Amino acid sequence: MEIYQNVCVVSLLWFTKTSRISENVYLVDVNMHGKPGSTSVFLVKGEKVAILDTGSNSTVEKLVEGVSNLGIKRDEVVYIMPSHCHFDHAGGAAYLEDEFPNAKVLVSEKDSKRLTAPSIIEKLIEGGKATFGDPNIEMKPIKNFDIVREGDTVDLGKGVDILILDTIGHSRDHISFYEPKNRFMFVGDAAGIHMPKTNKITPTAFPPEFDLEIFVATIKKIESYQPEIIGFAHFGAKAAREGYLSLKDTVKATYKWKNDLIKAYKETPDLEHVTEFIVETYGEQLNEFAPNHARDLARSLAQGFLPMANQK
Ligand SMILES: [Zn+2]
Repeated sequence: MEIYQNVCVVSLLWFTKTSRISENVYLVDVNMHGKPGSTSVFLVKGEKVAILDTGSNSTVEKLVEGVSNLGIKRDEVVYIMPSHCHFDHAGGAAYLEDEFPNAKVLVSEKDSKRLTAPSIIEKLIEGGKATFGDPNIEMKPIKNFDIVREGDTVDLGKGVDILILDTIGHSRDHISFYEPKNRFMFVGDAAGIHMPKTNKITPTAFPPEFDLEIFVATIKKIESYQPEIIGFAHFGAKAAREGYLSLKDTVKATYKWKNDLIKAYKETPDLEHVTEFIVETYGEQLNEFAPNHARDLARSLAQGFLPMANQK
């Protein structure tokens, strides 16, 4: 009975298809690495449209197609808003500038520097390749941008606006977007990876900037807005009780991973041993996120957590 109820809740309240998910909010599955159900981008539409997160260079076509299929015209898109600088969130930004000529990129102050500096962009590409084993990752500097800060409001007209929130922890540049009319919160990577088929959460504990305590404090900050729909970059959007519980579950999952990984490390203080432990214990959910790259992801997540093993 318990399991049956959970399945019902998940299937009813977890949006996973390219579609309109509330009055002013749309989800686009951008088929990251050619796979549906891995990376989502959201659109918020008032009189004008904002794209929240960008996907990567290789998902631009799918995103443009999604926007068109949802009945949104190219010239309605006025903002492109990456949550942070990682290739699967900001990598498409400069390419989307070419696709949506009326659009300006809105970024945090940190990303105004990161996403315009060729040497940093090179490092972001290398980081993406190491984590996902994808040789096709490319990025280029954004050109037409403005800086947004905590507390700023982006007006889309018709009473629809987006509040900017600092939500660091996953990375030091991370911002999230809250739309009060629909009570929709897009959290990017700030509150874990949520995979619909396995129904499992993976902490977004990727190096080099993951900070567990700040990550948890950020999730509590997100919770304090009491959003009714929570959009995740990975993957989809969860509504009402399902979304609210997901934030609590993300905190629980993050501490569990930390404890498990430190225990494995203390048994055998070796990165490959911990990587193997993660693949054995959490491989199914990592494979759902990035098929065939569970080991690359596991190694990266081990590197995100293991500095904590040496802190005590
Ligand atoms: Zn990220």
